[in-house]
Amino acid sequence: MFYLERRKTKEFKIGKIGIGGEYPVTIQSMLNTKNGDISSAIEQTERLKDAGCDIVRLAVTDDKSIEVVKALKSRIDIPLVADIQFDYKMALKSIEAGIDKIRLNPGNIGSDDKVREVVKSASERNLPIRIGVNTGSVSKEIAERYGRYSPEGLVLEAQRHIDILESLNFENIVISLKASDVVTMIKSYKMMASRCDYPLHLGVTEAGTAYSGTVKSAVGIGALLADGIGDTIRVSLTDEPCEEIRAAKEILKSLGLKKDGASLVSCPTCSRCSIDLISIAKEVTKRLESVQKNIKVAVMGCVVNGPGEAQDADIGITGANGEGLIFKNGEIIRRVPEEKIIDELFLEIDKL
Ligand code: SF4
Repeated sequence: MFYLERRKTKEFKIGKIGIGGEYPVTIQSMLNTKNGDISSAIEQTERLKDAGCDIVRLAVTDDKSIEVVKALKSRIDIPLVADIQFDYKMALKSIEAGIDKIRLNPGNIGSDDKVREVVKSASERNLPIRIGVNTGSVSKEIAERYGRYSPEGLVLEAQRHIDILESLNFENIVISLKASDVVTMIKSYKMMASRCDYPLHLGVTEAGTAYSGTVKSAVGIGALLADGIGDTIRVSLTDEPCEEIRAAKEILKSLGLKKDGASLVSCPTCSRCSIDLISIAKEVTKRLESVQKNIKVAVMGCVVNGPGEAQDADIGITGANGEGLIFKNGEIIRRVPEEKIIDELFLEIDKL
């Protein structure tokens, strides 16, 4: 297996988690609970953490959101990001409440004094700021000159905010340049990556519902990661946030960027298939979600090609005329009744 060489970036911490440099690519999501609903926010954050989310973001719009930040910080050990639109006071209050990172575009919060105050407060606590640009937030001047949906427009909009932070000697910067068009998104990040060494937060915005959004995100985020670009990712889906984590983990696993957790290989089935493979593969996928071992598990349809095609799997099963076979590194180790094949597979996985 080949390992991807990643782009060299600055590195710093978001709470206990590192970003950039040699740190692993992290997975983020965002709460979609009602503003001020503390118990739902806690419940959703806990579920996200259990699902494998590394960093959680929430919109901070008023004092009710600040109470949520305080409650989350006192109850759950996960880095928390405050998403600020225009109100610099919410940034300051989030920092006071113990937030680990701010997402804010300094050019959008008003006077220089306000920016200076936020930057001073973030610097004192060594907090990073993410500049989050998307096609909807490109300034009028830049949009008129380069077009709202152009990579140049997105990059120059980000640069406008970077310049403000750098002029205040602030360099704990993460950048995102999200577009819903995958090609625009890929080109924008590539352009940005060639201009600076700040860590990049990758995402396709307004990607859609679970199926199409996962595919679009996998193409956009995956293309960049495969090129070594990207330090943290968010798969944006119109769905339950834990679905974003499942998709993000698969993207990282497919590129060898996530080592913990099992990955499944399964054949597409054909007329040689001698077992109810589709339902077996679905059930195995579900049960593998709680397996933390770094293993590859194969679920194949026939003995003629199955074990051979999945030789690099640590363990696998295949159908064989009404019964099941378990194989390890391509070698059959035993026969089991078809109805017990999944339980027997997991007994073998326990032994690995
Ligand atoms: Fe067909 Fe067997 Fe290949 Fe599955 S492993 S696609 S059943 S030949």
